[in-house]
Amino acid sequence: MLRDRLVEALGSDAVKTAPEDLAVYAFDAYTDGGLPSAVVLPSSTRDVSAIVKIARDCGEPIVARGAGTGLCGGAVPLAGGIVISFARMNRVLDLDERNRRARVQPGLINLALSREVANLGLFYAPDPSSQLISTIGGNIATNAGGPHCLSYGTTINHVLGLEIVDAAGDVFETSIDVAGYDLTAAFVGSEGTLGIVTSAWVRLMALPESVRVWVAAFDDIDSASEAVSAIIAAGILPTALEMMDVVITRAVEAAFHAGYPTDAAAVLLIENAGFDEDVEASESAIHTIAVAHGARSWRSARTKGERDALWAGRKSAAGATGRIAPNYYTQDVCVPRSRLPQALRAVGEAAHENGITVGNVFHAGDGNLHPLLMYDKRDRKQVAAVIETGNQILQCAIDLGGTISGEHGIGWEKRDAMTRVYSTADLAVMARVRDVFDPMRMLNPEKIFPAGARCPEVAPP
Ligand SMILES: Cc1cc2nc3c(=O)[nH]c(=O)nc-3n(C[C@H](O)[C@H](O)[C@H](O)COP(=O)(O)OP(=O)(O)OC[C@H]3O[C@@H](n4cnc5c(N)ncnc54)[C@H](O)[C@@H]3O)c2cc1C
Repeated sequence: MLRDRLVEALGSDAVKTAPEDLAVYAFDAYTDGGLPSAVVLPSSTRDVSAIVKIARDCGEPIVARGAGTGLCGGAVPLAGGIVISFARMNRVLDLDERNRRARVQPGLINLALSREVANLGLFYAPDPSSQLISTIGGNIATNAGGPHCLSYGTTINHVLGLEIVDAAGDVFETSIDVAGYDLTAAFVGSEGTLGIVTSAWVRLMALPESVRVWVAAFDDIDSASEAVSAIIAAGILPTALEMMDVVITRAVEAAFHAGYPTDAAAVLLIENAGFDEDVEASESAIHTIAVAHGARSWRSARTKGERDALWAGRKSAAGATGRIAPNYYTQDVCVPRSRLPQALRAVGEAAHENGITVGNVFHAGDGNLHPLLMYDKRDRKQVAAVIETGNQILQCAIDLGGTISGEHGIGWEKRDAMTRVYSTADLAVMARVRDVFDPMRMLNPEKIFPAGARCPEVAPP
């Protein structure tokens, strides 16, 4: 019945129900959860609207899916239902060069947009390390960040308006250009629980005149962390300020020969972009601060090739850890920048206590930590140790005045942790917002909100 109706509306080529097809959509980069009843690949907003109406008639939940690179189980159909894959809605629909904006379909790959507008001297700023494969729709739904979001802001700062298919299958638009409620902001970061993004107007930025990249090496993590705080405290906002510890630089160098020192406890990868003179002035200021905080070496990338190699190494760091262990778990927490030294010490202690190898590669300027906990998932003891370590790190971030996610979102993984940072009253307000857009709770159920038993006020009606 479900399949028949979907095929009637979209054609058999757009509907997948064979077990081997469904299995491909049962996981994301965090977990494998449950099989969907069907996977549908729409080509238009009208198709999406038709799918939602059929799902509603058949009582099937809906999970929107971009590239499945999410790190918290967000795109996994834990309650079954229909997965809507946006792989075929991946085009730039309008390019408004004069106003520096573009209307894109949700399945467009993040980096493809920057590549498409580069010849106009423009780029799309949010740059998650997954930008080679993750989609703009997934980025919007998770409010994705990235190394350059330190100065450019996260996805929410680059979305100008959205076309949404709601839980009834109706289509509406939001825009930040008009007066009234800023509904665009409500949808960015809502992880597919309020509506389905079918197109988005996004901001494009002018490519900077000059880009410089520097690597500062330190003998201990504390000094590198202190340098991060000092750079920002001095009123300098580099376009990116990333940190990698020695576990990561060694893995990256073994895999990519990117140009990082492998004998330093920590390195800072610093980028500044803008007008030539400003960037040059910032180099001497940042260099002075780094040296004052114990930097033992300072390297300036001389060519675009060197810069690109350093960035490619940084953005591929997670994959490089495959040389250390078959699996890794990425924790994503935020702490106030000034608490970085304590947070990193606590990460090291938690990993040590549980016998886990940890590598740190993260957006230091934002205080957004990504400890990579390495393990072998065939070993249940190691799995338990990773869960415990991740949990201790989460609690430590909260205790230091931080929060449970910097950019990867809540999804299924952290939904129960929401009660650690939000009161029941806070969560009840969020649930009421969801009920306005999705009263039947059919859009990505099981995500964001803690299990009903622990929080009666946010349980479904
Ligand atoms: C190696 C690696 C590096 C990463 N680096 C970063 C990083 O630097 N910064 C960062 O923020 N994240 C990072 N991530 C996490 C992930 O890439 C981001 O969360 C990304 O935004 C997910 O995009 P996606 O297209 O893969 O979405 P998916 O994983 O498919 O979906 C993510 C969420 O978005 C929802 N969704 C997808 N499309 C739509 C739509 N059209 N309408 C409504 N909801 C939708 C899904 O239901 C789900 O809840 C990384 C992941 C990996 C594996």
